[in-house]
Amino acid sequence: TIRRTKISDLSQLPFGTQVSVKGWVRTRRGNKQVSFIALNDGSTINNIQIVADIEQFGDEYLKPVSTGACIHVIGTYVESQGKGQNGEIQAEKIEIYGTADPLEYPLQKKGHSLEFLREIAHLRPRTNTFGAIFRIRHHMAYAIHKYFNDNGFYYLHTPIITASDAEGAGSMFQATTLDLNKVARTEDGSVDYSQDFFGRQTNLTVSGQLEGELGAMALGAIYTFGPTFRAENSNTPRHLAEFWMIEPEVAFYDIHDNMDLAEDFLKYLIRYALDNCKDDLDFLNEMYDKELVERLELVLAHDFVRLSYTEGVKILEESGQKFEFPVYWGADLQSEHERYLVEKHFKRPVIMTDYPKEIKSFYMKQNEDGKTVRGMDVLFPKIGEIIGGSEREADYDKLMNRINEIGMHTDPIWWYLETRKFGTAPHAGFGLGFERLILFVTGMANIRDVIPFPRTPNNADF
Ligand code: ATP
Ligand code: MG
Ligand code: MG
Ligand code: MG
Repeated sequence: TIRRTKISDLSQLPFGTQVSVKGWVRTRRGNKQVSFIALNDGSTINNIQIVADIEQFGDEYLKPVSTGACIHVIGTYVESQGKGQNGEIQAEKIEIYGTADPLEYPLQKKGHSLEFLREIAHLRPRTNTFGAIFRIRHHMAYAIHKYFNDNGFYYLHTPIITASDAEGAGSMFQATTLDLNKVARTEDGSVDYSQDFFGRQTNLTVSGQLEGELGAMALGAIYTFGPTFRAENSNTPRHLAEFWMIEPEVAFYDIHDNMDLAEDFLKYLIRYALDNCKDDLDFLNEMYDKELVERLELVLAHDFVRLSYTEGVKILEESGQKFEFPVYWGADLQSEHERYLVEKHFKRPVIMTDYPKEIKSFYMKQNEDGKTVRGMDVLFPKIGEIIGGSEREADYDKLMNRINEIGMHTDPIWWYLETRKFGTAPHAGFGLGFERLILFVTGMANIRDVIPFPRTPNNADF
């Protein structure tokens, strides 16, 4: 038997080599003499053309070799007669692993809309589009680990199940083994969690940051990269209920070091995609977004703009633009505002800092003015916020003052507060939404199209 060759590796072989390939049929067309099968095995966007002689195989035999079928082909790798292809395979043997009845198989030759493909998320990886997207997603995940490893960061695994309800208590998913319909309740009607698995209420994490901070104050520089969960009730093209987040956290970094890291990291990832995902990017550029590659190059060409929230609000107020949400000092900026600054005003990515403390989390380092904190958001074209981060408040008293000001419970984060009591250290970090990165790199418009199994309201089937 001949060893299987991946379709991506065929072009390295000399013509005349006998090969074995396995994959899924994209299309089959032809005439009375020959049948042309476009075959893909997921290793590349480029299908290989299989040429099958009708007389040799018989019309009946080739009939089940239809779109979606899985086949094994043994044949000779030869120079293609057709233009635009280097090689094709002259089939000697075709084995059918699995058929796909054309009357039932939902993916047919004609292009399908992304909306339709979302309804068959279990089959859409079989399309060229989703093959390209998920290969790019893989390469980006690898590049993230490579970047941090090369730069002296340790990969610290933070927990998925947590007792902390840190920031957005309302948007957390509960993790419980109790049947909430049957459990004992206290007088005020709240659930008695003492009988639960952990003996207390637990949730799925919304961010690994608080645990990450412990890591930074021990190992120096760490990152987490894992799934996070938010019960986002808004149906937007940028929010998922389950998404992946990359969160570096570094001791002895201030907000400026943090901005430098964010910019260098994002540029590294985009350069990596351009260097390693060329065929897939060219395909997406051609099919969906004619400015994709140009936009990626443009991000690399300039320094990101750095400005304060106060300066940003001023620009927006003076822009004369009609926005859906009003702009005034103290308002949380919406993606329409962020995109205006990036796409219309500066025409390059923006890092905005020094936000009003009321619209940011309790752990951000407070500025002298008593009104703003050293938070930073990185704003990208087409996306808006791609990164949120800050220098953290390292001073125990200041942190506690803020916690009391907003009336937060300290019980679930007692361990976090201890880091400020014992050998506290200045430190900073940020969170990059992995799917927002993939949205930007692939040029896709909807976040549901860049994750294999999107979790959104009323959608957890597959
Ligand atoms: P947004 O303002 O867009 O709701 P956020 O400020 O709530 O984002 P952070 O808590 O700062 O988000 O999280 C860090 C990063 O995680 C964000 O900059 C974004 O890239 C990503 N992110 C946040 N929420 C989601 C989500 N629901 N789905 C996908 N990515 C998300
Ligand atoms: Mg949010
Ligand atoms: Mg935000
Ligand atoms: Mg944010």
